[in-house]
Amino acid sequence: MDISRIIKPWKRQPHKAYVFTNATIIDPVKGDSVPNATVRISDGKIVHLDVTGSAPATEDVPEENIIDLSGKYLCPGLIDCHVHIAVVPGEIDLRAYLDMSERISLLRQPHVLKTMIERGFTSVRDCGGASLAMKEAVEEGVLPGPRLFIAGRALSQTGGHGDMRGPHSEQLCCGGSLSGISRIVDGPAECYRYARDELRQGADFIKIMGGGGVASPTDRIEHVQFSDEEIKAIVTVAKNAGTYVTSHSYTPQAIKQAINLGVRGIEHGNLIDLETAQLMAEKGTFLTPTLIAHVMSKQMNFLPAESAAKNAEVLEKGLRAMKMAVDAGVTVCFGTDLLGPMHFAQSKEFSVRSQVLSPIEILRSATINAARLVMQEDQLGQIQEGFTADMLILDSNPLEDITVLDRAEQSILSVIKDGRVVTSRWEKLTADA
Ligand SMILES: [Zn+2]
Repeated sequence: MDISRIIKPWKRQPHKAYVFTNATIIDPVKGDSVPNATVRISDGKIVHLDVTGSAPATEDVPEENIIDLSGKYLCPGLIDCHVHIAVVPGEIDLRAYLDMSERISLLRQPHVLKTMIERGFTSVRDCGGASLAMKEAVEEGVLPGPRLFIAGRALSQTGGHGDMRGPHSEQLCCGGSLSGISRIVDGPAECYRYARDELRQGADFIKIMGGGGVASPTDRIEHVQFSDEEIKAIVTVAKNAGTYVTSHSYTPQAIKQAINLGVRGIEHGNLIDLETAQLMAEKGTFLTPTLIAHVMSKQMNFLPAESAAKNAEVLEKGLRAMKMAVDAGVTVCFGTDLLGPMHFAQSKEFSVRSQVLSPIEILRSATINAARLVMQEDQLGQIQEGFTADMLILDSNPLEDITVLDRAEQSILSVIKDGRVVTSRWEKLTADA
């Protein structure tokens, strides 16, 4: 009797081994596709990759797990670097979420996670709201979903982007109290304490609201938030724990403040100018634009009037800013930032970016660049020996047309995460997770 299976009845069966033959590998490093490849996976890893065309060793692999991928493409699993799984579907506009209980959110998060992996996202970085409990549940196999890298609660100042109280609210908000997906902290002492507390509760990195935002009721986009001392405190906590800080910042002023104080990532960055882009490139700062959130918020009327005006401004400038950053040599990552009823549009970010970037630039943002941001560049984002077996089987080449990733139902035949077929729309391969 296996006692571990009695204690955790959801424990997965051991990994199956698979051999994929005649595959065309999508290589985001070279920016090229490699034909006639054989890929062998077992124990969740890519254990062998052969591109010489020689016959693969398959004796110990059952016949049904030897899959001929002639005419198909094997692409690294996608990574979305800016999601909020806790802001679940079910309501029509942002206002309704202020009253949503954490229990309702938790019960709906499995739906969000399942649909993300069906779209080909094998990892996501949650920039506020996801819990360690959910991350562990996915890891253990309680429910299907992408691998989670979490910030816990985002840290915001009083009246900052994370403070959801309206201007007429007199409700006091004391140090460390929760506000939606954020926690309100003021002064270096609270910054030290609550950054440490997020790490204690399993945060993989720290997210700060370093400037004004679109969805918040009482700040303006051009506001710089947090003092130098506050940001320094948070950066020190993260560095001491071997991780990093990423900042929600739209304007050059907010971005420069953050990166000069040691912040490693910038979220959104829609209003970047050339000088700031060059500084980011020089310092090796990561940029994660989230353009589809602005497109969908407008289309779906998700935001109240005061936010809708801010949204229109950043949407217009966002595409241009992203292109400028890529051209300046900034490492740009794929992000979406979709809330509530907009999660369905996650893959549309590929089409939005294709207006200004090439397919390989966009694919890199969702694979190798993203893997570096989450500090997994030797495990994720490539189909290479020794890497984690996160792969998509595609029926067309994303290096020719990146928008095929925006049509998962037709283009993504199977999604493999950690060496297990999590979802499959293809009769030659059945899901085993
Ligand atoms: Zn966000």
